[in-house]
Amino acid sequence: MGVFPRLRRGKPWKLKIEYWILNILFLALSACSPPPRDALLTGQTMGTSYSIRLAASPLGRGDLRRLQADIDAALAEVNRQMSTYLSDSEISRFNRAEADEPVAISPDFQHVVRRALEIAAATGGAFDPTVGALVNLWGFGPDGRPCAAPAAEPIAAARAITGWRHLLLTPDGQLAKDIPDLRLDLGAIAKGFGVDRVAELLRARGREHFLVEIGGETLGVGRNGQGESWRVGVLKPDESADLQGIARLTGGRAIATSGDYRNFYRDETGELRAHIVDPRTAAPVGHAVASVSVLAGDCLTADALATALFVLGPDEGLPLLAERFPDVEALFLVRTGDGFREIASPGFAAALRYEPAPAL
Ligand code: AMP
Ligand code: MG
Repeated sequence: MGVFPRLRRGKPWKLKIEYWILNILFLALSACSPPPRDALLTGQTMGTSYSIRLAASPLGRGDLRRLQADIDAALAEVNRQMSTYLSDSEISRFNRAEADEPVAISPDFQHVVRRALEIAAATGGAFDPTVGALVNLWGFGPDGRPCAAPAAEPIAAARAITGWRHLLLTPDGQLAKDIPDLRLDLGAIAKGFGVDRVAELLRARGREHFLVEIGGETLGVGRNGQGESWRVGVLKPDESADLQGIARLTGGRAIATSGDYRNFYRDETGELRAHIVDPRTAAPVGHAVASVSVLAGDCLTADALATALFVLGPDEGLPLLAERFPDVEALFLVRTGDGFREIASPGFAAALRYEPAPAL
């Protein structure tokens, strides 16, 4: 027998009570049911890890799996073009090519080279995508760590094959060099580009609220699961995993950090040698600045400028930002002996709504 005949048989006041109990139960259940949760995708790329948070994602497991497969494919494609760790990548083929022998490269690779050359020019060569030979000589490339600091002669030889003005991108997408053995190295910009590339893919799939991070370079779009701006920790540039502060990313902005506190060694004299080379001295940058965090409208720009500003330091870097990159903000953390002093561009605090980390 169905429900209706039973209902019809009941007393009207009883039916009313049942109706309200059911209604209240339904309302209570819908109030208790959790809101859609953030989805987290993690993986490996470019010799580091990535994480992607989709705010209040309605996607089921199958959809997420397919989305992550597409993201992995897009990142593998960036590596196939720009990774010097893959011997058959486009960049490795270019690095093996003879001088004045143009190599056709993919449109994304062209875009990254074009931006790299623009940023090299705008930073007076502090950012230089041709530092590969020097980076390798100082122990941060495929040849590994040297036993002692390199002598003057090999430094001069590596310097002779360095210089962004020797790198040429033709309007029809061919890359050439006018000196032999120049080594293109996009390690200071490719992660940022990878982040932008993933964000482009997510936007194309209709996602409006997400955070993408590759090796610490991060872009926040829209809002987090609580409807607030995305919050990103700025690490203290030391061995602790403590936070110096918390940055809020609003308006689809990116933050990238460069420093000498992660990838470094001490040479035979005890001097700290880190992976960012000052093209003007042909040696690793060594000054009191421990890290630079940069906020920009896209992650490629934030990544490249963080490296450039680490080379320049605040005295040269901040006037350059004000003049050439008025929409970009930076925070330098400078060693004081017992902690870090913050030196920020004038708009940094407002643009980032930077909050000191709560004491633990
Ligand atoms: P990042 O961590 O983004 O600052 O990038 C550092 C990496 O960029 C290094 O490991 C080198 O491969 C490369 N690099 C080092 N010095 C420079 C420089 N002055 N300009 C551009 N790339 C650099
Ligand atoms: Mg960088």
